[in-house]
Amino acid sequence: MRYSGFKVIKEALTGHKGWKPAWRDPEPQTHYDIVIIGGGGHGLATAYYLAKEFKQKRIAVLEKGWIGGGNVGRNTTIIRSNYLLDGNQPFYEFSLKLWEGLEQDFNYNAMISQRGILNLIHSDAQRDAFIRRGNAMILNGADAELLSTEQIKARYPFLNTKDARFPIKGGLAQHRGGTVRHDAVAWGYARGADSHGVDIIQNCEVTGFRIENGTCSGVETSRGFIGASKIGCAVAGSSSRLMSHANMRLPMESQVLQAFVTEGLKPVLPGVVTFGAGHFYVSQSDKGGLVFGGDLDGYNSYAQRGNLPVVEDVCEGGMAIFPALGRARLLRMWGGIMDMSMDGSPIIDRTHIDGLYFNGGWCYGGFKATPASGFCFAHLLARDAPHPTATAFRFDRFEKGLMIDEKGVGNQPNLH
Ligand SMILES: Cc1cc2nc3c(=O)[nH]c(=O)nc-3n(C[C@H](O)[C@H](O)[C@H](O)COP(=O)(O)OP(=O)(O)OC[C@H]3O[C@@H](n4cnc5c(N)ncnc54)[C@H](O)[C@@H]3O)c2cc1C
Repeated sequence: MRYSGFKVIKEALTGHKGWKPAWRDPEPQTHYDIVIIGGGGHGLATAYYLAKEFKQKRIAVLEKGWIGGGNVGRNTTIIRSNYLLDGNQPFYEFSLKLWEGLEQDFNYNAMISQRGILNLIHSDAQRDAFIRRGNAMILNGADAELLSTEQIKARYPFLNTKDARFPIKGGLAQHRGGTVRHDAVAWGYARGADSHGVDIIQNCEVTGFRIENGTCSGVETSRGFIGASKIGCAVAGSSSRLMSHANMRLPMESQVLQAFVTEGLKPVLPGVVTFGAGHFYVSQSDKGGLVFGGDLDGYNSYAQRGNLPVVEDVCEGGMAIFPALGRARLLRMWGGIMDMSMDGSPIIDRTHIDGLYFNGGWCYGGFKATPASGFCFAHLLARDAPHPTATAFRFDRFEKGLMIDEKGVGNQPNLH
């Protein structure tokens, strides 16, 4: 079904009885050419591009719950490509370019809003680091602009630029960054994949792999065995748990990240702002709520809720740059499970088992990667070769010491 203004008006006048489900609810078949495990943003995008761009047939996405129930529907919706390192920057810029054409591509309103992202600068050393980052972005074809305190004051009058504990000395802006309605991305990709013949099978948990003589021939699921010539794993925070069924131990830990939303307010923040002297970032949703978050809870967990010390830390960070936040009432908070890799960068690679492919390690930045991750994973599955922008995201970079350590903090996942 395609959406149009005419259809919306017709349905409004006839009691909304003509809408059909946006994707089918098929029974699993006994064998597929390609099975994707995980119906989050990355799994659904992979299936969509496999069918649409790489003309693959007989594809299924297996999701243990419902699509959009994982991190794709739990994140704080920020997209950007303000990376420094060669392994990352071209990939995230590719992703931002895909976001820019995505709504037309899958004919679905994902509320993509390029309202800009601003990283605040609080010291001279930080300014130097951000100038370097901005130059790396520009050299890779992204946009970046260094803003003065005066320019920031004019655009963000509610930030404390007068007597803050951490004075705002400027900021690095990426005007093409912004926000996207997160669960609409899952729905848009699901609907697009379904229209190209992909079977999206919900309530179907993968509980094991059938591996013989180094080759994987299918998956054991809560709905029986499903055979497949190729299997792509894209389960984000559950990566270690899933891959343990194939006797693989990943260079990854699962940790909680929390998010917060206030009551709806009149417009106070035109774009996304990140604090540079602590863990806090904030944007304002189209409904008016301030959407904010901060650091990981810092311990291994699969619980989708967090603890109070991080709530305190995030609110302290918020009050340090944006004192008006203290007057807003908090409506909701929740947690999601992050697949924290040891260098903070992802993996899109074949495993040592024939037919078994892996996508994960997105940490707390995987939402913005969704289109490029799906495209590059589809490229790998269809052609058995990495996409040019994802050649660095390999398993063996840890063995070879070729870490893509964006923050320069070493192999400690909770510091990325
Ligand atoms: C609070 C919070 C804020 C964040 N903010 C941002 C942000 O602003 N910008 C950004 O870029 N990123 C952000 N992220 C990170 C981003 O959400 C994730 O990196 C990204 O969504 C992960 O990919 P996904 O969408 O495929 O994951 P998910 O939506 O979690 O998909 C994985 C799916 O796999 C399924 N699954 C798991 N195990 C199995 C199994 N055995 N069988 C079948 N299915 C299985 C799960 O049910 C789930 O639906 C944030 C995350 C959180 C929690």
